[in-house]
Amino acid sequence: MLRLSQNRAHPERRLKVTTNSEKAPVYVYRGEELARYGFGEGHPFGHDRHEAFHHELIRSDLGAAIHYASPRRASVDELALFHSPDYINFVSKKSAEGCGFLDGGDTPAFPGIFEAASDVAGTTLAAVDAVMSGEAQRAFIPIAGLHHAGRDHAAGFCVFNDCGIAVEYLRQKHGLTRVAYVDIDAHHGDGVFYAFEDDPELTIADIHEDGRYLYPGTGSVKETGKSTAKGTKLNVPMPPQANDRMFFEVWEYVEDFIDKARPEFILFQCGADSLAGDPITHMACSSEAHRHAAVRLCALANRHCRGRLLALGGGGYNLKNLADAWCAVVEAMLEANE
Ligand SMILES: [Zn+2]
Repeated sequence: MLRLSQNRAHPERRLKVTTNSEKAPVYVYRGEELARYGFGEGHPFGHDRHEAFHHELIRSDLGAAIHYASPRRASVDELALFHSPDYINFVSKKSAEGCGFLDGGDTPAFPGIFEAASDVAGTTLAAVDAVMSGEAQRAFIPIAGLHHAGRDHAAGFCVFNDCGIAVEYLRQKHGLTRVAYVDIDAHHGDGVFYAFEDDPELTIADIHEDGRYLYPGTGSVKETGKSTAKGTKLNVPMPPQANDRMFFEVWEYVEDFIDKARPEFILFQCGADSLAGDPITHMACSSEAHRHAAVRLCALANRHCRGRLLALGGGGYNLKNLADAWCAVVEAMLEANE
């Protein structure tokens, strides 16, 4: 099989994978708490996404090399690292009511949604701790990467923005300054982008379907960060039907951008809705795009930050696609550990 990590067109650009610190396992998170985050009754973000991934992971025979880790719940103080107190209270109230929407109509409330969203956020923080302590070399969480939620609002199926919370947590609890956030979900990661638009210490690179054709409509190439953060964000809009070849081309820019930022930790939102056949987007990539990105990010993480890479599942509404894409990410992480 062609290994896309072996970039024959640019052999000089291949990153050397170091081996001295690669004994810790890859953590993959699973548990009913994660499966509970989802919306029933025909909503694209169903409860079955967790099982679809884990079923394929077991079937793919990668399982023996994986350490399965359990979710944990975020505290209100942890949520408040990113979200406003008023918004946290609003979610708590809607969760108790258990009906209506948290936003204009994409993100329904259900009884216990506060706890379910807190479990996603807490699991991302557990994974950050595992990677920072060296217990895990890298980690993957299938139900996570809820990148549309803003500091004071829900949006696009996302209640608490575990990506944004993780950035603040890495800074405040672990004392890091240079964090990189790489997002290949078909939708622009607006909740992360606008929360850190004027923050020069978060490097963002985001490949997504052009906002003229897809929610949330943002992420133009001209959006590069504000004031002192200008130049620390890279938005790469792709046309509808963009395929692997186009992804590999633009990936080179993403890789150079992250390489120059010399991150101390890499967060990777690997939404699977950029694969052909997703019911709510229009891109046409395959899981090889995810494999390619994951292989390269592992190499960058090894180069700059002792391998610290946390991948968050993000979107993806075709169950076969999300299983394929996320298994490819986990496989790339395992191979980088060998
Ligand atoms: Zn998406």
